[in-house]
Amino acid sequence: MISKEMVRLGTARSVIREIFEFGKGRAAVVGEENVLDFSLGNPSVPAPEKVQETIKNMIDTLPPKAYHSYTSSVGDNNTRTAIAENLNRRFGTKYTMNNVFMTCGAAASLNITFRALIASPEDEIMVCVPYFPEYKVFIEGQGGKVVLVPPTKELHIDVAELEKKVTKNTKAIVINSPNNPSGVIYPESNLKEVCSVLKKKSEEYGSPIYIITDEPYRELVYTDVKPAHIPLLYDNTIINYSWSKSLSLPGERIGYILVPSSVVNYDEVYAAVGGAARTLGYVCAPSMFQRVVEKCIDVEMDMSVYKKNREILYENLTKLGYNLAKPDGAFYMFIETPEKDGEAFCERAKKYDLLLVPGIGFGTKEYVRLAYCVDTQKIEKSIEVFKKLIEEK
Ligand code: PLP
Repeated sequence: MISKEMVRLGTARSVIREIFEFGKGRAAVVGEENVLDFSLGNPSVPAPEKVQETIKNMIDTLPPKAYHSYTSSVGDNNTRTAIAENLNRRFGTKYTMNNVFMTCGAAASLNITFRALIASPEDEIMVCVPYFPEYKVFIEGQGGKVVLVPPTKELHIDVAELEKKVTKNTKAIVINSPNNPSGVIYPESNLKEVCSVLKKKSEEYGSPIYIITDEPYRELVYTDVKPAHIPLLYDNTIINYSWSKSLSLPGERIGYILVPSSVVNYDEVYAAVGGAARTLGYVCAPSMFQRVVEKCIDVEMDMSVYKKNREILYENLTKLGYNLAKPDGAFYMFIETPEKDGEAFCERAKKYDLLLVPGIGFGTKEYVRLAYCVDTQKIEKSIEVFKKLIEEK
């Protein structure tokens, strides 16, 4: 007998993958340029030149052992120090390398954090709707229960609903801002209210409720209002970060967990992160890319294509009468469908070779997700289709 649950996870057809396969089939018939595939969150902007330069320089000047060997499980000291100092410059914090644990991207960071915190099958992790569907797989995979928190109509966190959902078993809440799928950046006032409920409930139950941030889109922001650095608002915050989107390195699997010293029993929590990474078999984060991110720590991505795509879409879709969540960050737009049924809308869009993801997998069936990390030409082409789709209704 093998695990039925793992067989289920390994064979379940992902909606996004299905759409992607459909797109490939259509591209063979009508040409790739005519398929408006906005289903995947795969960065279209290449990694900054400095990434290639750093790799080349590493290979040219260092012996292979220097960049192919194991690092310590927590990560290379110079890399961890560079990360701490970068955050200190930006957020006025006092982190050191002892707060940073290098990982294989955000998915690894999150699994490690869940594994470190979940101590019993009764433990609950709250997830704010709309949410990245893999959270469910990660939390349940690490032995916890998912509790969904519904959103306000602006797709912020509904604090009254959140308060109702907190129980003595609540271990943590995941906060993903800028958000996948909505592109929303939660306002600081909203987060402060969340923190105040969590503080009150932690005291009431006599055990900390953690905020687990998921921040792969932290630098993908299009307005002057930057996402809050949550440890400045709430002591028991654990940051999960990755360079998959911010340096367009999704295949390289590089990120980190940051446990601030303000976390209650910081020493134990940091040790549990190490223990969890060990049981999950991560050994250490990729050695070569630990060096790359260290050297590229202050590099900013060229976001001009995403910015332009966002502007074209936002202006045209709102003009056509679509209702959208305010897309201030990431590279997604979450569109309320005229029929209030994302699956039906996606089926109609498919007829025009416009490929979107239904909102149901993100916990909101009325919406569709559009990933605009694509060529601008395709965005321009899509406007006519969106016009037809709203007029047909
Ligand atoms: N969290 C969110 C919200 C994401 O959108 C993604 C990837 O798309 C991840 C985590 C996983 O990122 P990584 O490639 O760093 O594992």
